[in-house]
Amino acid sequence: MDYEVIVIGGGHAGCEAALAAARMGCRTALVTLNLERIGHLPCNCSIGGPAKGHLAREVDALGGEMGRTTDKTLTHIRFVGTGKGPAVQTLRAHADKDLYPREMRAVVEATPNLTVLEAGVEDLLTEGEPGAGAHVVGVRLADGSEVAAQTVLVTTGTFLNGLMHCGEDQTHGGRHGEARSVGLSAALARLGFRLGRFKTGTTPRIDAHTVDFDSTLGFPSEDCPPFSFLNERLETPHALLPCWQTHTNTTTHDIIRENLHRSAMYGGRIHGIGPRYCPSIEDKVVRFADKDSHPVFLEQETWQGPSLYVQGMSTSLPADVQMLFLRTLPGLEHVEMLRPGYAVEYDMVFPDQLQPTLETKTVSGLFLAGQINGTSGYEEAAAQGIVAGINAGLQAQGRPSLVLERQVSYIGVLIDDLVTKGVNDPYRMLTSRAEYRLLLRHDNADLRLTPLGREAGVVTDERWQLFEAKRDAIVRETHRFATIFVRPRDSAKLEALGTTGVVENRLSLLSLLRRPELDYPTLDALALDLDPDNAPAEPVSRAVGEQVEIQARYEGYIVRQGEQVAQSSRMEAVLIPEDVDYSIVRALSHEGREKLSKMRPRSLGQAARIPGLRPGDIQVLSIHIEQRRRAANEPLASAGCNLPPPRTSAYTNKVFFA
Ligand code: FAD
Repeated sequence: MDYEVIVIGGGHAGCEAALAAARMGCRTALVTLNLERIGHLPCNCSIGGPAKGHLAREVDALGGEMGRTTDKTLTHIRFVGTGKGPAVQTLRAHADKDLYPREMRAVVEATPNLTVLEAGVEDLLTEGEPGAGAHVVGVRLADGSEVAAQTVLVTTGTFLNGLMHCGEDQTHGGRHGEARSVGLSAALARLGFRLGRFKTGTTPRIDAHTVDFDSTLGFPSEDCPPFSFLNERLETPHALLPCWQTHTNTTTHDIIRENLHRSAMYGGRIHGIGPRYCPSIEDKVVRFADKDSHPVFLEQETWQGPSLYVQGMSTSLPADVQMLFLRTLPGLEHVEMLRPGYAVEYDMVFPDQLQPTLETKTVSGLFLAGQINGTSGYEEAAAQGIVAGINAGLQAQGRPSLVLERQVSYIGVLIDDLVTKGVNDPYRMLTSRAEYRLLLRHDNADLRLTPLGREAGVVTDERWQLFEAKRDAIVRETHRFATIFVRPRDSAKLEALGTTGVVENRLSLLSLLRRPELDYPTLDALALDLDPDNAPAEPVSRAVGEQVEIQARYEGYIVRQGEQVAQSSRMEAVLIPEDVDYSIVRALSHEGREKLSKMRPRSLGQAARIPGLRPGDIQVLSIHIEQRRRAANEPLASAGCNLPPPRTSAYTNKVFFA
């Protein structure tokens, strides 16, 4: 049997990629080393958090699985970023580490068009020379058998030439308890890809029965909406669990300093580059030497099990040192360790060798997604996975590819950063990386992306119907609020709600929503009082009310960002013909010519973001494209990215299939 899409790896990128392609109707195979570890969470058990929550919601909005699986398996959930307004506010949940993979595997195995194979891929089969028409045609498995495919996605995480470190001990492996993958690294190198070496680390796990929780600060779960747009509310089998905070102190830091030479990192045994935004505890002690304390969170890994994840203490120090420093933390004086922390070094592929579709530039049909592209994190992996899966599916079906732009989604920001700027250390998504945060909110991910997922074929009828109902309800409710007015005679009612009255004529409830002391539920109650005949025909959901409120309250800012986006979109819309020969564009600087030849950007906007490219080079390039077009009498090659009319509540970004 040959496949339209083969996905190598059943991690977070691989699951989303395989599900997307199969849901589009492509004959898809997911080849992975261990069925038990499909969707495994090898580091902490949390999904979401600042910017990562946005990514998880966007994956869900496109028709992905991460949000649904989190909702089904979470043990704890909180809002994060609440003090900073709706732009950066999102969710962070802890999933049950055993249930999450089990649920994900069940979905994967039940999906039509998707065959799951437990096997190792040793080689990539290609035809033609890389860079000169090479195309992937399948994979070779460890038993020597070959499986043919039109497109292949590599999503092998930390497994390529993986080397694990715990103090002085080194073990070959992709992650705890799993063998590494060697053949694929060699195959990628043979095909001419530049590979690098990154490292990541995880924390010790400790026994909850040996922790004195009275000496820690407890944080209960909060009443939060679900991650997935498919779910109206969260339904969990037990009351949600708390998590706990403790902290390091000068004794902890002294122990770490005294043993730095035994750390794999500082002992010179690790050569890979570690994540800047998720440093190990030894890194924190060295880099922030003036700090006497760092916060540490204890997170329960499963509903009933004793294992606690010690968030904030990833380390490559030896197990005996880990035990020593753990016991200096308040509440952990008598702690027992279930498993020491460790670091893993692995091969990655520099992502500037990819197109914004995540297809490689030199071997057509070959896509890369997830940690292999130099990112770190489950959500970053899932986000790339769904885009790569959609694009592999679209290619197999002979349809135009999908490029998510940075103005439309955090996923677009992530991929654009990877392919345009490349990476020097493991890339983690941060809200500060997005220019248009007020447009790219957690709450409106579905309004931005579900139509794109539907057009690609990933969004099911059920999701689409829910989406349309919500979009229509937002329009109706916005209209209701715009057409119910308070008048001077109602001033006392307003004052009773803690706000000032109406001085002249009248004010719509939509205008009143801009007052920070008022919110949607309060004004909904007032609406029913003022105009009972204009009550909504059906109950208005929390998500719809929230949308009406946010869009009214931040309207001015949203309009302004929309205008900025429209301006920058003009550059995005100018596509650069694929066959431009930069060596003959004489007015380009030497450096500009080199950078453009190497990166081969697809639009003028992307070219302008190449680090170090001078504005003068962009101007020269723009003139060259225009001259070429006129000479050939071609129509404008426009990528067309019309942005939403920012005013309307239920905006849809133009479907951007290039
Ligand atoms: P993975 O989830 O690693 O999945 C890779 C998949 O590929 C596996 O299913 C494997 O079986 C399969 N595979 C590999 N080779 C082959 C082959 N040849 N043939 C077939 N299948 C193959 N993230 C953070 O955000 N913060 C952290 O602090 C952090 N620390 C981490 C520490 C450790 C020790 C580890 C292991 C991971 C850590 N992560 C951390 C990273 C996080 O786990 C990954 O970013 C995420 O899981 C990557 O997803 P992925 O889909 O790219 O790969």
